[in-house]
Amino acid sequence: MNLLIYGPPGSGKGTQAELLHQSFDIPHIATGDILRGEVAAGTPLGLQAQPIMAAGGYVPDDIMIGIIRNRLQQGDSQKGFVMDGFPRTIPQAEALDGLLDELGRRFDRVVYLNVDIAELVPRLAGRMTCPIDQKTYPPGTAKCPLDGAKLIQREDDKPEAVKKRIEVYLDKTLPLLDYYRGPCSTTTGAGAWFPRSTAWAQSRRSTNAC
Ligand code: AMP
Repeated sequence: MNLLIYGPPGSGKGTQAELLHQSFDIPHIATGDILRGEVAAGTPLGLQAQPIMAAGGYVPDDIMIGIIRNRLQQGDSQKGFVMDGFPRTIPQAEALDGLLDELGRRFDRVVYLNVDIAELVPRLAGRMTCPIDQKTYPPGTAKCPLDGAKLIQREDDKPEAVKKRIEVYLDKTLPLLDYYRGPCSTTTGAGAWFPRSTAWAQSRRSTNAC
């Protein structure tokens, strides 16, 4: 099963994609995680991406398309995948359609997480991230409940970067709603940080028919 989960920053894409990954036993392909791995490893790609990410901008399309082309060629994605964070622009979506065509694949479901923009700023600005597994927690949480690591604030969760991320999302990513209107299911990611179960039940239902 090939799934795409998308929505504004802070809508819960990572959380829901992780649950879909566990539920369907398919890899979770998150371009943000791939980029953060490159930054942590200090690769040329990481060095190029780091300032763009810290400022809340988008890494250029040709780089992102190359990353996804490589990732889809890895063996584990043959059984399907849940994609999170890509595509983020119309050119990325068009390139992805071409890649999927070449591989004889298509999305079974595209799930859009619908969250009011006003709800995103307080969610993102101040959220805490586990440096080990990248899971995010509400503002004020000190330690990761799973591995005890001291939580950090992502550079791009600082207020100026959050503002920029939302602006870029509205300009470049929101148009994907029309692009995917046909196969797209909408589910609400609105509400509190916890429980995750309400949005999860909806995401799961959105994929049931696959
Ligand atoms: P995320 O973890 O998905 O919020 O991604 C973190 C950051 O990585 C984004 O704010 C962008 O700077 C960059 N990024 C991730 N995916 C993409 C993409 N598909 N296109 C451009 N930039 C991306």
